[in-house]
Amino acid sequence: MEKKRIVIALGGNALGKNLPEQYIAVQTTAKAIADLIEEGNEVIIAHGNGPQVGMINNAMAFYAKTDPAHPAITPLSVCVAMSQAYIGYDLQNALREELLNRNIKKEVATVITQVRVDADDPAFQNPTKPIGHFMTKEEAEAAEADGMHVMEDAGRGYRRVVASPKPVEIIEIGTIHALLNDGCIVIAAGGGGIPVIRRGNHLKGVGAVIDKDFASCLLAKNVDADYLIILTAVDKVALNFGKPDQKWLDCISVEEARQYVKEGHFAPGSMLPKVEAGIDFASSKPGRTALITLLSRARDGVNGKTGTRIVM
Ligand code: ADP
Ligand code: MG
Repeated sequence: MEKKRIVIALGGNALGKNLPEQYIAVQTTAKAIADLIEEGNEVIIAHGNGPQVGMINNAMAFYAKTDPAHPAITPLSVCVAMSQAYIGYDLQNALREELLNRNIKKEVATVITQVRVDADDPAFQNPTKPIGHFMTKEEAEAAEADGMHVMEDAGRGYRRVVASPKPVEIIEIGTIHALLNDGCIVIAAGGGGIPVIRRGNHLKGVGAVIDKDFASCLLAKNVDADYLIILTAVDKVALNFGKPDQKWLDCISVEEARQYVKEGHFAPGSMLPKVEAGIDFASSKPGRTALITLLSRARDGVNGKTGTRIVM
């Protein structure tokens, strides 16, 4: 099997919804990733943080009530940084152990990653990114009364939404390259990266959460990956998802994918950013393939046995 450079984007189901769940979930996730490494592929890992960044934000708000010296609001950029660290900690340990169990000698490192966004990105005026736990209608109304934006999320309940600007530049890309050149397995751009804007030499954190699907795509382009694999809770992408005439997709061209996006087949905030990231990656250079599949089927996906691929 030919060795490929693969950027893996891990979704919510790879990490669980709370600390004990995460500790267990990363063990399964580590196995799926180690399968790809064992086949000789070079792997770079990115991940989401929707539930986690919401949890941290809530926890900090609660703490602020007990400490008058602490500001009431902890910037979302700081919350993303915290999420990168503790998710990276669990993930890198689980992967380290899984590789040792298979006698694979490789270092695993998490890079606290900042991602530059455009201060004028229209997303700041229109929050769309769901974070935190699902809420009932009553909880959603209470959250709105507290000044938060809340939206219905793909028929699964209500969630807080925050601004989700597009990633422009990965600040630590040089560090990521250095680690890759040294043969390390890198975990980077967690939670879409810490959103920052540039003010001369100063990087200023901003109140937003970048979509991990878009950040992973930028990372994949920057490291010249062959594959962008978005691992999520469904085996394939569907047309007419959840309807009687639902149709699972195996392999689609960038052109077909663009057409399906126009026809509104993919839910904003969940499948739409994945397909858009897939289109962006696959159209960026010949030979680049985007694959969307189930976490547990990553290896089958890469070997063409399952998943939805987007190709030029
Ligand atoms: P992740 O945490 O991996 O980013 P999301 O929940 O954000 O996962 O997105 C994956 C979900 O998107 C699927 O579990 C499914 O419920 C939903 N979805 C929406 N539209 C589609 C579609 N057209 N095909 C498949 N899944 C879809
Ligand atoms: Mg998502």
